[in-house]
Amino acid sequence: MSGISEAAVLAALKTVKEPGKGQDIVSLGMISGLIVKDGNVGFAIEVDPRQGAAMEPLRKAAEKVVHDLQGVTSVTAVLTAERAAPSGAGQAASQGQAPKQGAGHSPAKGPGGTMIPGIRSIVAVASGKGGVGKSTVTTNLALALAQQGLKVGILDADIYGPSQPRMLGISGRPSSPDGKILDPMENYGIKCMSMGFLVAEDTPMIWRGPMVQSALQQMLRDVAWGELDILVVDMPPGTGDAQLTMAQQVPLTGAVIVSTPQDIALLDARKGLNMFRKVDVPVLGIVENMSVFVCPNCGHESHIFSHGGARREADKLGMEFLGEIPLHMEIRETSDGGRPVVVSNPDAPNAKAFTAIAKRVWEKVAAQIGAGGPRQAPKIVMQ
Ligand code: ADP
Repeated sequence: MSGISEAAVLAALKTVKEPGKGQDIVSLGMISGLIVKDGNVGFAIEVDPRQGAAMEPLRKAAEKVVHDLQGVTSVTAVLTAERAAPSGAGQAASQGQAPKQGAGHSPAKGPGGTMIPGIRSIVAVASGKGGVGKSTVTTNLALALAQQGLKVGILDADIYGPSQPRMLGISGRPSSPDGKILDPMENYGIKCMSMGFLVAEDTPMIWRGPMVQSALQQMLRDVAWGELDILVVDMPPGTGDAQLTMAQQVPLTGAVIVSTPQDIALLDARKGLNMFRKVDVPVLGIVENMSVFVCPNCGHESHIFSHGGARREADKLGMEFLGEIPLHMEIRETSDGGRPVVVSNPDAPNAKAFTAIAKRVWEKVAAQIGAGGPRQAPKIVMQ
């Protein structure tokens, strides 16, 4: 557990000067979000958005001085354009007026304040535990958002059991024309990055905390996402430390919680809600999956688990109930076969259930980021 102290990192960073001002970046208050864990260091350097690209050498220099310290095994420094947070300005996405034409774009921002160039919003899909259909909902939700004319990406952050390659029917490996930035994979008009593309499917993955963080950061930041209206993140199941850290590290606009009726009863949804509250991420609402069983032969509907509980529980928790998805063979077969129902049978009731949820999710996201429709051309590009 030996490692490096925050003080030592800051002392090293103090040797790096902001070229324009001649003062060091620590004294200038440019360092934020410093995380030091077992020799793994992460921090953000706050810069003027207009200077983004010009600050890349500074970022590299800061990374290097920390990396050179004894006891440091990895360093991730990111540039952020969130300047000195105005006092009392709590959180997340910039509320406010819909931007007029040419008013600049509002990239994804979150509690971490770190923006991702070109990405307007990032929404996490989370669940209290595995097997509730979080990945299925992620895929179909993303596809339904794309059907609304939005530019959509999926970041499969479920690094322990990545499902997106299978659900989106994508195989192969992403390429990297410059050896640094990966091109995302693509199918059905959606861009996707997943650990599933980078490691063999049957390789058991053992991840330690800091590795999880750097894998996530790389999939987020070292991928040529291009311009996206919304990046949907398939979170790892559960609400433990790993999930909390992830929620903290990604500049989330909001989160959608997927739950089955029985989990709702078991209060798993509440844990998800609490996790996002802790990191100041607005919960957009809850999706009840495997809600009603529809017999594939006769269409008879059975409420195997009590019905209506999710809506009541959501009300109680002050969360919006975004809708319910039936437990249906078609959803399982199409998801697992790489032909999600939203694209393979878009007019079917199963697909419509996702479409309606996607519509509401985008309404809420657009309200958060102050936007009405698909993105305008961005005005700021920074590395
Ligand atoms: P998670 O991401 O929560 O672990 P998955 O999305 O991988 O869950 O779903 C687990 C299994 O349940 C998959 O085989 C999937 O196809 C199936 N499944 C998910 N939602 C439904 C549903 N509404 N109806 C039928 N099968 C479903």
